[in-house]
Amino acid sequence: MQPPIVNKPQAPDIATQVTFAMRIMGISPIPRNYELYYEAYIGSNPKLTKELAALGSKATQDELDEIASRYFAHIHHAAGVERAHNKLVKQLTDLLTMMREEQFALENYNKVLGEAYQNITSKSASGVEILRNAVALISEATADTMKEGRERAETVEMKSVEMEVIRQELDEYKRIANTDSLTRLANRRAFDERLASLYNAEHARPFTTLLVADIDHFKKVNDTYGHPVGDKILATVATVIRSNLRRDAFVARTGGEEFAIILTDSTVEESMAIAERVRLALANTPFKNSKTGVNYGPITLSLGVCQASVADDPVDLYQKADIALYCAKNSGRNRWTVYEDGMKKDTGKSWLLYRR
Ligand code: GH3
Ligand code: MG
Ligand code: MG
Repeated sequence: MQPPIVNKPQAPDIATQVTFAMRIMGISPIPRNYELYYEAYIGSNPKLTKELAALGSKATQDELDEIASRYFAHIHHAAGVERAHNKLVKQLTDLLTMMREEQFALENYNKVLGEAYQNITSKSASGVEILRNAVALISEATADTMKEGRERAETVEMKSVEMEVIRQELDEYKRIANTDSLTRLANRRAFDERLASLYNAEHARPFTTLLVADIDHFKKVNDTYGHPVGDKILATVATVIRSNLRRDAFVARTGGEEFAIILTDSTVEESMAIAERVRLALANTPFKNSKTGVNYGPITLSLGVCQASVADDPVDLYQKADIALYCAKNSGRNRWTVYEDGMKKDTGKSWLLYRR
């Protein structure tokens, strides 16, 4: 005989428990709050759990966002943009309401003027009293309209100051979104945008060059000294690259130990000279730990150089610079190579993690 099927009560899963707890505490069921309470619930960060518990059931959205800003940079970012967006919507709504009021006030004023005109142009309107009344009416309506107009102008001015503050906030969020947090250089996303824009301006191409750079044998550095040392070295490499370029050069960290430089207004000879300057500067940079005396260096770079005019589009340019980098690696590293027609990669290995 078959044993009876017993429906064992199942423990609710974490998602259900988190959602339930949030509902009980009156927490708004939005994704960023869910992420916060989820982390607290699974206890991955005891300090976060403690801070949320201390807020109890009276947590305001501002308090939650403040905690998120300290524990989750990405949540803070999204919440900040959302706040700025909401503020902007409010300012614009206020302005529209004011414009409607302005229109209404002017329509009323127009009506008063129209009526006064009717009165003083009608045949019977020759009496002093009628004219006097009409003038009184017009001047009262004019004074009211001017006063309201002035007040609205002041409000518009205030609103424009507030909107400028919001614009600056949004600029800052954009800057953060486009910056690599380890090196402070532009990140891959910013690089993508810049690379795509190169082919928008036909005339700029002959003097535009892409350089892709990859640190030599960096895996060995990491394996020998550890990831945190590797990170510090990456930050120093970024500083060396940046400080050996003109201010208008665009530099990005496009992947783990990979960088890209976009030069505009540079001939191929100038770009080669810049590649050499960066290479040499890094090769001559000491990487000695002053406390322990350990020497992590020398740290070197290989670079691939390709002019925008020899490529058809951003993807082609990146691939050709990658081929030139491959040749630099293959012929001994710590050097740069300019892309030439017919250059090929003869192995599957590509030095650029980042593929478009
Ligand atoms: P090659 O000269 O051929 O480029 O050799 P490589 O060792 O530099 O190249 P490979 O692609 O084999 O390894 C790249 C290494 O870069 C792997 C990883 O250890 C390291 N790396 C990538 N991203 C980071 C990072 O953000 N921090 C640290 N510390 N290391 C990273
Ligand atoms: Mg490498
Ligand atoms: Mg690499």
